[in-house]
Formats: sequence, C-alpha cells, structure tokens
Amino acid sequence: MTQLPAFDEIAAAHGHRCPGIAIGYKMAKAAAKWAGDAPVTVYATTTRCPLDALRHTFGLTDETLTIEDKGELHFILEKPNGEKLFIDEVPGSKIKNAEGDALRGKVRGGTASAEETARFNEIQEELLEQAFSTPDEKLFTLRTE
Ligand SMILES: [Zn+2]
Repeated sequence: MTQLPAFDEIAAAHGHRCPGIAIGYKMAKAAAKWAGDAPVTVYATTTRCPLDALRHTFGLTDETLTIEDKGELHFILEKPNGEKLFIDEVPGSKIKNAEGDALRGKVRGGTASAEETARFNEIQEELLEQAFSTPDEKLFTLRTE
C-alpha cells in the first residue's frame, strides 16, 4: 500500500508551502488510494508545484516519471498491469490572487523586502487553506481506464 506522507513532509520536500502543493497533496491522496500495492509510473504535462506531491509520495525517479512540460496540469499514472488513472485539473480552478502573483516574482527573485516576503507567505497560507477547503471535484477530475 502506498503510504501517503504527512502534508508537512511533502511541503518540506517541495521547499515551500503554497496552494499548488496542497492541491498536489489532494491528488496524491486519491492516487495512493487508487494505486494500492502497485508500483506506478507517471506521465506529467507540467512541472508545476503539484507534481512534487506525486514525486514524493510515489518516490518517482527519472525511470518512473516522464515530464513533457506543456504548461497543463495533467497526470497519467499507470500500474504494471496497464490500468491507468488520469488526473486532470478543472480548467480555471487554479487558486491564486493578484497580490500574490505580483509579489511572487520579487520573492522568488530575491528582491522582495522582509515585509513583502512576509505578506507573500501570509497570502500563500491563505490560498493553501482555500485549496484544502475546496472539494476535490472542483479542483481536479479522476478517470480510470
Ligand atoms: Zn509550490
């Protein structure tokens, strides 16, 4: 059985706390339930934050993870028996706000003041909570094949 790590562990592996890793955690939870005991390979069309939750939960390596970055949040998980799980972001469901977007560049680029960094982290926590309180089906769909 794939064990879903604690959220804090996944956020630490990701390097920061953000709504994207919260959504990834929700996806990983559903994926771990689907996978059961089976090892999985993952095909991803994004390098965005949610990917890290799957990477960490399933211990993905270069051999088990294929990334073709198309800027879209889609994952296809496959078991050795060929069963597949498709995880697709609901279009337009990305959790963000304009103030956070404006600060992100400065914070990531290392040019933000201490105040701006604190404000950015505060916004990220709010959005993270919003991601957790939003029902899964409003964020992503699951389909098996
Ligand atoms: Zn992130």
